[in-house]
Amino acid sequence: MLGPGLLFVVSGPSGAGKDTLVDALLARTGRLRYSVSATTRPPRPGEREGEHYFFVTPEEFKRREAAGGLLEWREYNGNLYGTPRDFVEDTLTQGYDLIMKPEVNGALAIKSTFPDAVLIFLLPDRFSYLRGRLLARRTETNEEIARRLEIAHEEIRNIRDFDYIVINEEHRSDEAVKDLQAILHAERFRIHRFADDAIRKLEHS
Ligand code: 5GP
Repeated sequence: MLGPGLLFVVSGPSGAGKDTLVDALLARTGRLRYSVSATTRPPRPGEREGEHYFFVTPEEFKRREAAGGLLEWREYNGNLYGTPRDFVEDTLTQGYDLIMKPEVNGALAIKSTFPDAVLIFLLPDRFSYLRGRLLARRTETNEEIARRLEIAHEEIRNIRDFDYIVINEEHRSDEAVKDLQAILHAERFRIHRFADDAIRKLEHS
């Protein structure tokens, strides 16, 4: 019935809960794939190659970028992050919906390439919780956390370019997952997503 898949982009500051919420959403939603990014950042404990990221050297990253293999890429806090082109294009063409979680500038770059992409900005209920969440995960140094918080203030300035805002309330992340699901469901029923011949088929069935 539907044409190409939908592209959902969940963005927002580091510590807002993108990873946890997107994991939960993927576990609950059929026909939804995740776009694994490439990065030059070293893996954190527990992160697996090809699942959380494709971990590459700066040389390999630049080689892929020069060959047109990345849809967008950004430097974030001293490391490079980018969205592999082939997987995104192939998955959408096959009719699967796709979700990705780049930082805010990457999200806006995706929107300019795919104007139909649905951009969702994720925030905690208090901006001040970001720091506590970054401290609690114990994966960054204090300097890195300070820099991520500075970036967060820059990122929120772009919030009006997004389609939706979802608040990930402290201790109620399940509600935020439901909100994300509601957005996905509603977007799947937007009339302009249905091809004319799909509607004609309905008419003549
Ligand atoms: P982290 O080091 O915490 O995994 O990611 C740092 C930031 O880079 C996060 O805000 C994350 O959303 C972003 N990021 C991850 N993958 C990509 C990507 O492919 N492109 C862009 N532009 N940002 C990304």
